[in-house]
Amino acid sequence: MIKKTIKQIESMIRICNNIESFADVEINGVTIDSRKIKKGHLFVPLKGEHVDGHRYVEAAIKEGAAAALWQKDVPNPPKDLPILVVEDTLVALQELARSYRSELDVKVVGITGSNGKTTTKDMTANLLGTRYKVQKTEGNYNNHIGLPLTVLALEKDTEIAVLEMGMSSMGEIEFLTKLARPHVVVITNIGEAHLQDLGSRERIAEAKLEIIKGLAQNGLIVFHGDEPLLRERIMEYSGDANKQTFGRMESNSLYPTYIKQTDDGSYFNVNGLRTEFKLPVLGTHNILNALAAMLVAHYFDIPYDEMNQGFASLKLTGMRMELVEGTNGEKIINDAYNASPTSMKAAIELVTSLNGYQHKILVLGDMLELGPEEKAFHVAVGKDIDSDKIDYVFTFGRLGEFIAQGAKEVFPEGRVFSYLEKEKLLEELRKHTNEETLILVKGSRGMRLEEIVQGLQR
Ligand code: ATP
Ligand code: MG
Repeated sequence: MIKKTIKQIESMIRICNNIESFADVEINGVTIDSRKIKKGHLFVPLKGEHVDGHRYVEAAIKEGAAAALWQKDVPNPPKDLPILVVEDTLVALQELARSYRSELDVKVVGITGSNGKTTTKDMTANLLGTRYKVQKTEGNYNNHIGLPLTVLALEKDTEIAVLEMGMSSMGEIEFLTKLARPHVVVITNIGEAHLQDLGSRERIAEAKLEIIKGLAQNGLIVFHGDEPLLRERIMEYSGDANKQTFGRMESNSLYPTYIKQTDDGSYFNVNGLRTEFKLPVLGTHNILNALAAMLVAHYFDIPYDEMNQGFASLKLTGMRMELVEGTNGEKIINDAYNASPTSMKAAIELVTSLNGYQHKILVLGDMLELGPEEKAFHVAVGKDIDSDKIDYVFTFGRLGEFIAQGAKEVFPEGRVFSYLEKEKLLEELRKHTNEETLILVKGSRGMRLEEIVQGLQR
């Protein structure tokens, strides 16, 4: 963050107390976690469900915070400390970020979608990083708190900020995009995540399309062109924005013409270009994420034939198509970070298509938050598995049983197992693995299927 005096902060947010005695104090960053406070930061206490950050204000200042916000309705603000009393600390944090954003001369890329936001964000930042000073959302800091913090962390000389925008209900993306004011927006796809909260895929699409509401004039919209819900809506969008699409279909601006996946990553060609691209991660869905990133990088004048350089140093945030080895020598694709029907299908498709393994096993857990149709989604995943290419299916969890139910319709007896306890699942699974085996482990975050991966590595 560019340094600011408290006096300057006062012009950015509404402060309700007298700050005269410390108006010249300087702050050089903003933190909401008192344990991570750095010298000179402004500490913003938030009232959480379980803890109230106001309890840590004095500690934060002792640890080096230059000043702290304080919400008006919280009694007994500490005396003789540099405290800025505001109506609402969360709103003040957001106001501060909005005001700070308007001072910066940075180009912003905003990324949303049901799946692949973090991955596309990492890929985009890598490609742009070969020529520009880039800052990106750390980890998954993509919501109404994380995004303002990311904006406030931007430095003066940063040329491009790549920001992830997440949501769980209508209006959230609109809020984030109007704060970040992107020059380029990316919609990775429309899946089923948050079906429970939003009701239909149309509504999910509508929620993602809100990202356009903050787009700068003459900006660029990059979106998944195979998705009719996006194609129809965006094509009829009559603004001045430039539109570019990626996907598998030949009608897209960028589509893969050749794909090969091996143990050390994916190789692919795209329409109209001779360069063979190499991604150090697996999954055709990751190739689609890469195409989105390439369209963004190209918009910022990075030549396609230089993009392998950006891909080479790519490291995805953990448990996303990570390839690891178990104690029996089996190869495990750890995709335990999360799961939805779309991403489940993509991961199973990958394992089905990979060559060079004698046996292939799927370990699949519940896909959570799918709403009233949840059972049908699980049965459909099971039915879709190719019993010629996959040897065994293990499911974990109450909804996992419905995947097993679907799989049993297409698999011969004795090749589908269903468990509610991980240790029991592991006991049976270990009987079927050796160095010729490839295992996919995937389920929703709440299922913690990484424990299966860890179990195989014990
Ligand atoms: P979150 O909503 O948790 O922030 P995200 O949108 O940031 O998720 P990632 O973290 O990039 O998504 O990827 C999560 C999982 O989604 C991956 O492990 C992968 O299985 C799946 N995935 C990633 N990209 C795609 C895609 N383009 N299409 C379908 N599934 C995808
Ligand atoms: Mg994410």
